[in-house]
Amino acid sequence: MTGVLQHVGDDAPPRCVHCGKQAAGPCASCHRMICADCCTLTESSVKKWAICLECDRKKGRSLGHAWGSLILWLLLPLGILAVATALVGLLAHL
Ligand SMILES: [Zn+2]
Ligand SMILES: [Zn+2]
Repeated sequence: MTGVLQHVGDDAPPRCVHCGKQAAGPCASCHRMICADCCTLTESSVKKWAICLECDRKKGRSLGHAWGSLILWLLLPLGILAVATALVGLLAHL
């Protein structure tokens, strides 16, 4: 026995970081141990991921953000085009 204060043996089941129950596996996003109750399965094109509810919420938010910027990028050239067309029209009248 070298140290009693050494952390629990390898055969001790990992605990869920959210509720303290026996963990089912690590979150695919933040790699913290989570149980079946505190994770949600996400189906990507390749395989199923188990991610914790916290990451699920974050992902939802970032997805919304991505859509927002995508729309912005779609509208930006249209806006520039509209301004350019207006300018050309203005110049043609001079
Ligand atoms: Zn849990
Ligand atoms: Zn996570």
